[in-house]
Amino acid sequence: MFYTSIAETQTALAAGEITTVKLVERYLASIGDQRYLNIYVEVFADEALDLAREQDGRRSAGEKLGKLAGVIISIKDVICYAGHIVSAGSAILEDFESPYTATALQRLLDEDAIIIGRTNCDEFAMGSANENSHYGPTRNAADPARVPGGSSGGAAVSVQANTCLLAVGSSTGGSVRQPASFCGIYGFKPTYGRISRHGLIAYGSSFDQIGLLARDPADIALGLEIIAGADSFDATAPNKEVPAYSQSTSTGPKRIAYFPEVLENESVDPAIRQTTADALDRLREAGHSVHPVTFDYFDYVVPTYYVLTTAEASSNLSRYDGMRYGYRSSEAETLEETYKQSRSEGFGPEVQRRILLGTFVLSSGYYDAFYGKAQRARRVIQEQLRAILSEHDFILMPVSPSQPWPVGDQIDDPVANYLADIYTVLANLAGLPAIAIPAGTEPDGHLPVGYQLMADLWKEEELLGFVRR
Ligand code: GLN
Repeated sequence: MFYTSIAETQTALAAGEITTVKLVERYLASIGDQRYLNIYVEVFADEALDLAREQDGRRSAGEKLGKLAGVIISIKDVICYAGHIVSAGSAILEDFESPYTATALQRLLDEDAIIIGRTNCDEFAMGSANENSHYGPTRNAADPARVPGGSSGGAAVSVQANTCLLAVGSSTGGSVRQPASFCGIYGFKPTYGRISRHGLIAYGSSFDQIGLLARDPADIALGLEIIAGADSFDATAPNKEVPAYSQSTSTGPKRIAYFPEVLENESVDPAIRQTTADALDRLREAGHSVHPVTFDYFDYVVPTYYVLTTAEASSNLSRYDGMRYGYRSSEAETLEETYKQSRSEGFGPEVQRRILLGTFVLSSGYYDAFYGKAQRARRVIQEQLRAILSEHDFILMPVSPSQPWPVGDQIDDPVANYLADIYTVLANLAGLPAIAIPAGTEPDGHLPVGYQLMADLWKEEELLGFVRR
């Protein structure tokens, strides 16, 4: 038996129904039984048990415990944790030990969260299926022949398969919402800047945000309340007040926008279109008003995202050069060979493809035609979304046009993977907060289905309050 929320877990611990040590042992056994899912790159078994023992001691001594006492979490392999390896799912960082801890993670630890391990992900968070990992694919617990989504695939399955309660992931273009939806749980990305990126391995810095995955949106609200807010290590996390998200509620009817064009789009899986339409019906019945709106730029969303993120990636990943840290080719003799061979041997094919693309769009002569134009497109996309959100509380739409596909099916077709990001990258392009909401399983099948809600900048409180209502 596994608890499904922080409240349930902490009630059981307070009542003496279970100890923290027993809880950790239960999750460790669950990890052991489900190794075939390839969820974790590394399990911190001894450390988690030591912390649990220590917490049980403090509990029986009547000491005050943190807000996350007894909460077992997983961290995606892109989040730095001092004294632990962080490899970004890449051979180039396979043995790299982090000298410091990410701000968001430190805030969770300070509230007594216990980390059970680091989860598998696409290399440098580049992917939508968790198949671009140096450690092999993670599998969807609802159907192990299928992908769990990506890039936080291990994070999503870590919650789905009951190996922890809360997972810390990251989103550059959908890496929290899409795997959450593929695995039937909640996945949330905040407004750009709401959570410090200090200690998050960079992919596309103007897009990257840490996000949370859980079975209960109340757990996401509490987690966000703890990790959000200014940080002197990240100038993009402004000094804005952090609301008490764990107390957020929603009252009164809301105005909800949707895109009829998406609901009618034949290339969107029928079960997903049905799920989205049903969600709108239920909201209408509950007294909210639902309004069709148009968005003129769907054709430009994926190209804009892939021009800008590959450009940022090519610059961010230039630091992995075989000289400073990470993998160094043992074959290389000269300086130039060291750069070339270390990077050719250390990076996987998808990362190399994106570095090449990003270097191309930034090169002189092409910069204005690609990078400059994509930046202008990003602004236009953001303005139209924010115009919609100035008249509506939320936009409701699918998370992905496709259901989880069989492992290996799309690995040789990067463009098919990129196109499937269309509905998630919108929020990242515009910096908006968004959450994937599970909606059971598809009518004639066994795979999870879901949809997402997006809100205007800094409206996490309204969004989470509404989802929890
Ligand atoms: N699938 C998208 C990509 O490959 C998003 C990944 C992410 O959010 N990290 O870039």
